[in-house]
Order: sequence, then C-alpha cells, then structure tokens
Amino acid sequence: MGTPTLPTPNAELDGGDQDCGSGLLLSLTSAIRRIAAGQVLLLRTREKSVLADLPVWARLAGHELVAVQGDGPWQLLVRRGGPAAPAPPASPDRLADVLSTGIPAELGTRLWLYSNFHCNLACTYCCAQSSPKADPRSMPPDLAAAAVEEFASLGGKELLVTGGEPFLHPELDEIVAHAAVRVPVTVLTNAMVFGRGRRREMLESMDTARVVLQVSLDSASPGLHDAQRGTGSHARAIDGIDQARSLGFRVKVAATLHEQDLASAAALHARLDQVGIPVEDRLVRPVAHEGFAGAGLQISVDTIEPEPTLTVDGAWWHPVAVTSKSLRISKTPLPLAETFAVIRDILDVQSASQTEGRHVFRCT
Ligand code: SF4
Repeated sequence: MGTPTLPTPNAELDGGDQDCGSGLLLSLTSAIRRIAAGQVLLLRTREKSVLADLPVWARLAGHELVAVQGDGPWQLLVRRGGPAAPAPPASPDRLADVLSTGIPAELGTRLWLYSNFHCNLACTYCCAQSSPKADPRSMPPDLAAAAVEEFASLGGKELLVTGGEPFLHPELDEIVAHAAVRVPVTVLTNAMVFGRGRRREMLESMDTARVVLQVSLDSASPGLHDAQRGTGSHARAIDGIDQARSLGFRVKVAATLHEQDLASAAALHARLDQVGIPVEDRLVRPVAHEGFAGAGLQISVDTIEPEPTLTVDGAWWHPVAVTSKSLRISKTPLPLAETFAVIRDILDVQSASQTEGRHVFRCT
C-alpha cells in the first residue's frame, strides 16, 4: 500500500507557541477565511495542545483536518469547508437591548475606535497602557472617517471613541463631527483637559444631541479615585462633569473597581443621586487584567463577548484588550467587514460547541 499523497497547501500560518486559548483561534480563523473552499492551509505549531484542540475546531467550523505531520514542532493541513452560514438578521428586540448594560450588542451594531493612546494620566489599571509618555498612535481623521463610513454601511448603530485621552487628539472634533452625522457617538474621557483653549473649542463644537460623554469617576470622594488615577484627578473630573453638563451634554459616569473595592460603589451611587446622574447613565465595571493592571478580570475570546475595536494599527476583539497581541484580529483596521466576519466565524464555532461561561464586559 502506497503512502497517500498530501495536498499542496495554498497558504501557511506559523502559530508558534500559541494555543487555542491565547490567540491562535483568531489568527487561524483569519487565515482560513483568506483561502477558498476546498483549498488547504498549512499550520505550523510548537504547542502540543493544538493537536487535541484543532480537530475539534475543524469539525465544528466545517473544515477538514487532512493530516498531522512531525514530532514536535508539528504541521497540520486543514482543508477549508464551504462558506459559513450568513448571520441571522438582528431582531428588533435585540436592537432594543443594544444599549442595555450587561446585554451583548448584536455584532456589527457597535464599534469602538481608539482615537489615540497618550493620556494626561497614567492610571494604575489602564488597560491601554496610556500615559503622557505613551506613543500617541493617533488615528488620522481620514482613516476614522473611512471606518465610520464602512461601519454605517454595514448597519452600524453606535460609535464609541476612546483612548488614551481623546481630547488630546488635536483633530478629535473632526473625527467626531464626521461620525456623529452618521451614528450616535460616545466619547470616553477623564474630563480633565477640556476646560479651556483649543480643547474647549473642540468640546463646544460637538453636537450635544448626537454626542454623549462618558467620564471616569471611581469613587464618591477623592481617596480611591486619586489613588488609582492620580492626586487631584477626582476634583478635576467632578469639575469636568459639571462643565460638560452645563454645555448640555448627556454625561455618563463609569467607575473601574478592583474586586476588593466594590463596596465603595454604594457611596458613589449616592453621590450621583445627589448630582442628578440617572441610574441608567452609571456603570461600575471590574478592572481587566490587561495593560498596567497586575490583576483583574481575565480577557479571552472564550470568556468575553466581542466588542469590535479599531486602532490605527489593527482590529481587536475588545477595547480593554488592545495591548494583548493574542486578541488582535488584524494588523490593519480595515476592512471592517472582514473583522466582523472573523468574529462571526468564531462565535459560530463557540455556539456549535455550546461554549458556556463567556461573560459580557461592557465599557459603556
Ligand atoms: S485609564 Fe483612561 S484616564 Fe487613565 S491612563 Fe488610561 S486612558 Fe488615561
């Protein structure tokens, strides 16, 4: 009996030491989407667990594992199956839930955009590793505009602009003005830098009917907030909230807390009651174990609902994971449709395997 002839691969992927829980799933899904049905991908891996996980993934995703070669490192040949089934249309009920805390947004309806990565603060838990010295990695307005155009054409409903501190981007007003006529925009800010000058002008230029500000405020009094975000930052955040509201902006407040500080949220709610921030405009979220944070919620494609996120240098699974290369979907932010398609393929596989335990981690 002769040795079976193996197909010549049409594409290759070097998975290195990654396992399916640390980024391989994203790069594998992206790579197999780039070949046609019936073509073969050669995956090189040094990670032994892939030998057990990949056959399950291939079966659930509708692909065929053709061969496994080697004695470590290994080469696996995967033949792509037919195109994935199109996503079901969003139902009105699900769309109504999009803005509800704790409910996963319909894929394609929300998009995060990092305007820049530098910041006037360097918070202890910053998932983006932002600081005054951080590489700005600023999003050019024309790239942001292209992303928003595609997002709107795909049925996008809501844009979230974050950073770094977005008001340090000198063209934030241009980015927001273009986006806001297409979709409602929320700008996440520490509210400390728009008190005067050019940044004040940018703030005042924004359409208060289309733009919401979400301000970080971790505690009712300065103690915890200043410990996490810097001395004096609490007072300036409160001042910034007052300024924005006096200009007519809807202001949401978001607190980021370590598990041991969760009890302090009650006092924050009481303070927000006093100043008239409604309950639906408040968010208490856990610290994510990303960026500067030495502890916190673990983020992975298996445990966190996707929140598609664009930076100037890529597309990512979630806005709190933009320092984690294993959660980068693409090294280019566009086309957005491909990012949504990769995420959809992964969700399809997860649904097929009836994965449970994925949580919603909303940042607004
Ligand atoms: S958490 Fe926000 S305010 Fe703090 S350093 Fe990071 S981007 Fe700046």
